Amino acid sequence: KCPACSPVESRPQKPLASCDALLKDAKIPSNKEISDNHLCLACRLFGSTRRGSRLIVEDAPYAEEQPPKLKMLDFLAIDRFTGGGKDGAKFDALALWKPTFTLRLYLENPEEWELGWLALVLRDLEEGWLSVGFGAAKGFGQVKLQNWRATFGYLTLEDLPAELHAPATPEKSGIFKTTEVRGGTDEWRTAAENWVKAFNKQVRQFERTKLPELQEDSYFDKVDTLYPLKEGA
Ligand SMILES: [Zn+2]
Repeated sequence: KCPACSPVESRPQKPLASCDALLKDAKIPSNKEISDNHLCLACRLFGSTRRGSRLIVEDAPYAEEQPPKLKMLDFLAIDRFTGGGKDGAKFDALALWKPTFTLRLYLENPEEWELGWLALVLRDLEEGWLSVGFGAAKGFGQVKLQNWRATFGYLTLEDLPAELHAPATPEKSGIFKTTEVRGGTDEWRTAAENWVKAFNKQVRQFERTKLPELQEDSYFDKVDTLYPLKEGA
C-alpha cells in the first residue's frame, strides 16, 4: 500500500483507498481514536477526517500595505457537442491580481521524517509547483514561496535538531530559546538533506497494520466474507 492515501478515494478495495475508507470498511466508528499505524503518513502529518493535522496553517493576511488589485475575468463554458459557447453558461470571476500574503506554518515537536517532508513541500512551493484556490487546472492560483525562514524553538540543546547550530545568545519566544534558519542557505540545505533521508526511510518502512476483520456477526453469526458468493449467484 502507498504511504499516502488519496483522501477522495472512498472505495476500500482500491490501491489508493483513503484511510477513512479502510477504517469504515473495518467498521471502526468515526468518533473512535485512531492509532498511528492505522493511518498513512500523509494523514499523520497533514490530517484527515479521522484526525486533525499536525501541521497548523495559519490565516494568511496580505503582505503589502495596499490591498492587491482586483481583476475581472470573463469565462464562457464550452458546449461539448457543438464546440461553441454553451447557452446561458457565461460567468465572470473577480480575482486578486498577483497578491502577496504572509503565512506561518507551525509544527509542534516535529520528527525528522516530518521535517523532511515539510522541506520537500517548501522546495516545491519555492519552485512554484503548487497552486491554491480556484481554477488550478486553468493555471490559476500558482504560488511561489519567497523570503522564508524557519524558527526552531528549544528548551535544552538536546531538543534542537542535531543539524542546527545553537546561537551563542539565542532569542527567546515564551519559555523557548529560538534559532532561525533562512531558506536557501547552506545550513538549511544540509539539514534538509538529512531530514529528507529520514523521510525516505520512513516511506520505505511504511506498513499499515492489518485492520481486524470482522469474524462474527450478532445476527447472522458468520459474516458473508467467510462464505463468498458464487459467481453468477
Ligand atoms: Zn491516509
